[in-house]
Amino acid sequence: MSLVIVGSVAFDTLETPHGRREKIVGGSGTYCSLAASFFTQPKIVAVVGDDFPEETIELFKSRGIDVRGLEIQPGKTFHWEARYGDDPNQRTTIKTELNVFKDFRPQLPPDYRQADIVFLANIDPDLQEDILSQVQKPKLIAMDTINLWIKTKPGPLLRILEKVNVYFANDEEIKLLSKEQNLIKAGKKLLERGPTFIVIKKGEHGALVLGKDSVFGILAYPCEKVIDPTGAGDSFAGGFLGYLDKVKAFDKEGEIRKASVYGSVLASFIIEDFGINRFKSLPLKDIENRFFQFKKLVSF
Ligand code: AMP
Repeated sequence: MSLVIVGSVAFDTLETPHGRREKIVGGSGTYCSLAASFFTQPKIVAVVGDDFPEETIELFKSRGIDVRGLEIQPGKTFHWEARYGDDPNQRTTIKTELNVFKDFRPQLPPDYRQADIVFLANIDPDLQEDILSQVQKPKLIAMDTINLWIKTKPGPLLRILEKVNVYFANDEEIKLLSKEQNLIKAGKKLLERGPTFIVIKKGEHGALVLGKDSVFGILAYPCEKVIDPTGAGDSFAGGFLGYLDKVKAFDKEGEIRKASVYGSVLASFIIEDFGINRFKSLPLKDIENRFFQFKKLVSF
């Protein structure tokens, strides 16, 4: 089993209708690795500053996450600040401080280079490209990104897209990158550039998994109380890829469908509390229960 995840490990300052939290642990790599750790033992690649809490690194280890690719450098950890309105799908980024991520160019340990699955989570596309050049023959490459990189580095992003099998995007990002307003048109346009599947995440409305000749629609698990939507997308990707790594299925459509449901289930848990709290003590049986409730929800 091997899933390598490169993404941010961060401090987030967040404001939602349920409160404000200053500099709590977050980051695309954090959410994704924790979500994947319910299925497999992911290997993380990231950098943090010397202000990052040791207890979170211990939490990663206790969840079986391989942290040899997590560097600690003198300086400050990546910091992101965002505000959500009453609609959890609408958020405004207030600040992105790359800090130690700015010049981070890791050398992957030899066993990381042989990963079956590589996930380029949301991070500077130059770094995503660098990681990709170091891995040998992954069976599946997946990527995610955010508006900031689509606006500032579309060139490297489109180059990476040509090499990936699964691209995770939300509706806003996919429209921005494809310059199309219709989601299906946008998805098809980007599928032509290389990916086998595009997972279009639509927040509380679920996701669409578009293949070259297929469309799979998935609901989001109905949640009445969304406390903090941060990390839902990364947790979706972590559940999705962790499951595929566990079953060693990289392109079978049936497994891709199941992986999407696990992705949706993991995302539905993380939004129930601020930051990564919900993953700290989440029994596997609760994940399985929600998976089966989900099955009931959509069968007719
Ligand atoms: P999500 O809610 O799944 O889109 O992911 C939110 C996470 O992405 C937060 O925990 C942030 O720390 C992280 N993040 C936000 N902007 C960036 C960025 N430009 N590069 C890397 N990570 C980011």
